[in-house]
Amino acid sequence: MNLRITGGRIIDPGCYEGPGDILVVDGRIAAVHRGDSGIAPPGGISPPCQVIDASGKIVVPGLIDLHVHLREPGFEHKETIATGCRAAVHGGFSAVCCMANTRPVNDSPAVTEYILAQAAKAGLARVYPVAAVTKGLEGRSLCDYRELKQAGAAAVSDDGRPVLDSRIMRLALEQACRNNLLLISHSEDLSLSEGGVMNEGAAARKLGVAGIPNASESIGVLRDIALSELTGAPVHIAHVSTRESVRAIRDAKGRGVPVTAETAPHYFTLTDEAVLRHGADAKMSPPLRSEQDRLAVREGLADGTIDCIATDHAPHAPDEKAAGLSQAPNGIIGLETAFPVSLRLVDEGVLSLSQLIAKLTLNPARIFGVPCGFTVGAAADIAILDPCAEYVVDASMFKSRSRNSPFCGMTVRGRVVSTMVGGQVVFEDINRVLKNGA
Ligand SMILES: [Zn+2]
Repeated sequence: MNLRITGGRIIDPGCYEGPGDILVVDGRIAAVHRGDSGIAPPGGISPPCQVIDASGKIVVPGLIDLHVHLREPGFEHKETIATGCRAAVHGGFSAVCCMANTRPVNDSPAVTEYILAQAAKAGLARVYPVAAVTKGLEGRSLCDYRELKQAGAAAVSDDGRPVLDSRIMRLALEQACRNNLLLISHSEDLSLSEGGVMNEGAAARKLGVAGIPNASESIGVLRDIALSELTGAPVHIAHVSTRESVRAIRDAKGRGVPVTAETAPHYFTLTDEAVLRHGADAKMSPPLRSEQDRLAVREGLADGTIDCIATDHAPHAPDEKAAGLSQAPNGIIGLETAFPVSLRLVDEGVLSLSQLIAKLTLNPARIFGVPCGFTVGAAADIAILDPCAEYVVDASMFKSRSRNSPFCGMTVRGRVVSTMVGGQVVFEDINRVLKNGA
């Protein structure tokens, strides 16, 4: 079915922002008509053509999430590739990059190919598998990056764990770069964070639990910047949470080090105080930090130090999160709250709307070297977003198999109306889409 999306405000970062219509033919962008036209008849393209009225909405490239945990294979009780992709498209994401800490670990072409096959079977979001840096995530011997790349790996990371041995990390950066694979650093000094369950500070003292200092993250960030500088290989810093990390990345970028960085909505929205209210549903690694850190992360987003927003979507079953703050596993889900929670940055004057959309589309696409945007001939990956719809986040709305979110109960603005991948409508909010066939 061919499509005309009409009457919306197009935001195609770095390319065009303004009113216009988008024509989709055979799954690809056939034309972008700039300017006001109202609801035009679907002339010019062969019928049948569906017209989607996007009046009052923004029409953007499908969002791209560089950091999710889809849990399959091995932890299907938390999430499957199909349920995770359903959550993704419900959140406006047309593509997600899934981390390697599955069981078995994605350290072999067979696992990479399995993930791609399951994603194709689900037929929802595009899935770019991130393979492991080291076999079994054990930090000892490097995976074969050449064969992983051939199998379809988009990047490498031991996410969930740091590569502790600096020599191994140096070799990994060199090998990954040689094979044209980006290395994503989970920056953490485990000797400093060991035993900690949340940020080191007043909230941890109030709860009487051991804390994780900021230095646990920034030591890792500084080391991996130093290794990127040494090798000339690019490094991408995952889930930046501290002011020291922001400062280190800003300084490194100023010196021309090929470092890029992401943060997650929880780090610029919440502080460790949220653990007092939400308990284990506000527990993740790295942990929610202080107000000073939250403000520094926002500054880092505003001045371009932090390139993009990723969710670190990390589903866990209710009984796992019910094990208490100390015992519960790290991580929260985020795919279905990322857009509305991030939109607060626009309301609060931290980013313009087009800067925010760039941090969810073009910037992550550039970092991973994947396509994005409304170039004629490109795959039609499109999200239609209603930036005005206000509602309360409710766990029952999630398509994810899990419910572990500290954003439940929060009043937000911004709703995903429709998500298209390759011209196929893979999600639509039937209450909000006005369509007519012709
Ligand atoms: Zn991580």
